[in-house]
Amino acid sequence: MQQLTFLEAGKVEWRDVVEPSLQGDGEAIVRPVTIATCDLDTALLHGRAPYKGPFGLGHEGVAEVVDVGDRVDRLAAGQLVTISFQIFCGDCAACRDGRTASCEATPPMAMYGLTIGGDWGGFLSDAVRVPYANAMLFPLPDGVDPEVAASVSDNIADAWRTVGPQLDAEPGAEVLVAGGAGSIGLYAAGLALASGASRVVYADPDPARRAIAEGYGAETVGEYGTRLGPFPVTVDSSADHAGLALALRSTAPDGICTSTGVYFEQETPLPLLEMYTKGITYATGRAHAGPAIPRVLELIVNGYDPSPVTGRVVNWDDAADALVEERGKLVITRA
Ligand SMILES: [Zn+2]
Ligand SMILES: [Zn+2]
Repeated sequence: MQQLTFLEAGKVEWRDVVEPSLQGDGEAIVRPVTIATCDLDTALLHGRAPYKGPFGLGHEGVAEVVDVGDRVDRLAAGQLVTISFQIFCGDCAACRDGRTASCEATPPMAMYGLTIGGDWGGFLSDAVRVPYANAMLFPLPDGVDPEVAASVSDNIADAWRTVGPQLDAEPGAEVLVAGGAGSIGLYAAGLALASGASRVVYADPDPARRAIAEGYGAETVGEYGTRLGPFPVTVDSSADHAGLALALRSTAPDGICTSTGVYFEQETPLPLLEMYTKGITYATGRAHAGPAIPRVLELIVNGYDPSPVTGRVVNWDDAADALVEERGKLVITRA
């Protein structure tokens, strides 16, 4: 089968690879129909992430179920599903506690589209093996367009964990998002408003992204500055020291700041004294995709629209050229 393979920054190619098959009765084989690029893919393709190819690219998308093992109960061939980017069993103590990023049955960091936790293939492929189908596949609700839901696998779920549980705990809270690294900050702003935040402020130097945030009803700020708010819920999705510092310094006493920004350098400065004196909780790490994905699908059914963030849609056959050219987020779909 054909697999779009990442070689190095600026270089991808379609390669012939062995087609995966079921290796157990809890597994599924799916055929990705619409995928999206993760913010990390954009960084990879433009030389801003330190990973070396070759490996199959793509870990956000909607797929059609092709085959399932005997123990897979709620899925049938032909059904459309959101596939978790994260490989997790759904059955260990961590997974049952909703901490699917820390699944004890899989290697640390196991995911599609990057070989940091084993090689599980990528979604720009004709077939993908899903080792824990009951846990990792989520039926796409009726009427939801795969192009709209393509990023639910990862970036939208990642954004949800920064505001969703926090707004469950403190309904109507005001939220600050320091964006800038790509799509996740924008998804966080839209999800916060869809989840009942009374006010969202989105800080980002990029005017195009600010316009999208304003479209969701967020107030915007064009520079990070020192401090805003205070806000009980803050989000750093900037991957920028100034954005991170703004989010932390703007967090209200006893508030929580969640960072999705990936800092590849050895040391990143934090305003620890200010955090200490105000009792700020700082959360970072990979999203727990398992509990987040169904919540995001429910918000989409109830009217949350991620599509203003997602941008350009191209045909599957044009994926290789489009991936190398595009600097924003991309949706790639089979005709
Ligand atoms: Zn990702
Ligand atoms: Zn597990």
